[in-house]
Amino acid sequence: MKRIAVLTSGGDAPGMNAAVRAVVRTAIYHNIEVYGIRYGYKGLIEDDIFPMRSRDVANIIQLGGTMLKTARSKEFMTVEGRALAAEQLKKHNIDGLVIIGGDGSFKGACKLYAEHQVPIIGIPGTIDKDISGTDYTIGFDTAVNTAVEAIDKIRDTAAAHDRLFIIEVMGRDAGYIALNSGIATGAESVLVPERITNVERVLNMIDYDQKRKKNVHIIVVAEGDDFGAEALTHVLQNKFPEMEIRHSVLGHMQRGGSPSYYDRVQASRLGYHAVLALKEGKSQLMAGIINNEVKLSPLDEVVKKHQSIDDDLLDMVKILSS
Ligand code: ATP
Repeated sequence: MKRIAVLTSGGDAPGMNAAVRAVVRTAIYHNIEVYGIRYGYKGLIEDDIFPMRSRDVANIIQLGGTMLKTARSKEFMTVEGRALAAEQLKKHNIDGLVIIGGDGSFKGACKLYAEHQVPIIGIPGTIDKDISGTDYTIGFDTAVNTAVEAIDKIRDTAAAHDRLFIIEVMGRDAGYIALNSGIATGAESVLVPERITNVERVLNMIDYDQKRKKNVHIIVVAEGDDFGAEALTHVLQNKFPEMEIRHSVLGHMQRGGSPSYYDRVQASRLGYHAVLALKEGKSQLMAGIINNEVKLSPLDEVVKKHQSIDDDLLDMVKILSS
């Protein structure tokens, strides 16, 4: 392994910069040249590739986003696009690739490996935490902390006015941000895409709370919930016309911001171990964290499975907020 490259792909996540920094500096320490690829697979196909030095990653560990930029690429979804990507790697004599991204990025990586045998190590980088083979994904911790801070502020005003707030948080396919921010803020209900929403149950709960004069409610809804925050707002307002009901979408603020200490440390560990794995000739693996240890799992198995959501934690929401 003489020369490797690193890219970030899919949605950006706070902590990606810490991983890039660790990849660059670990490679240089081991006398491996390292190239950066801007804009993920799109940049790879378009030859947006440049050599990186240690000082290129100075002063980035504390920054959100990704200094390598990220993008989604339709072209990479095609056999022809991936052939172009492999050609660029060959042209630059790149013998290995570190891919920091989510489930989709890893599916693409599996195809690149199957078709062109490019040695690849994946690093899970997504705020949604919807990747199996790891307890941790880069950005999740920061995103949950951001959601918690925002929901706490909303609770202050909800309490002052005796209002019910329905707060939509990120998570198109996964409810981890909703579940964890909901528990941390004492939400009365959490609705996640992994479970079919029982609206009747939510209505009954509010009815019961109204009768016992519990007037402040926070319902945290993942954006991918089958019923959805907006529809729920309408249903509740019709059922309880006397109640003050508000709907708030936290949106992209959950992606940004300086990464938490936890994201910085774990992302650094994964970047460091990804390079060691490539150096040892390993490939087609994802570096994840299981029980606080870095573990390598086959990428093709990781993309086949889904993280399941914990029923215990969902039950806990109801009990602890009663
Ligand atoms: P996030 O979880 O933050 O959305 P992601 O990696 O899952 O991150 P995607 O947009 O799904 O984000 O994937 C990133 C890129 O990976 C896509 O733009 C595409 O180029 C490539 N990709 C995704 N799925 C596939 C696939 N099935 N085959 C080939 N390439 C894919």
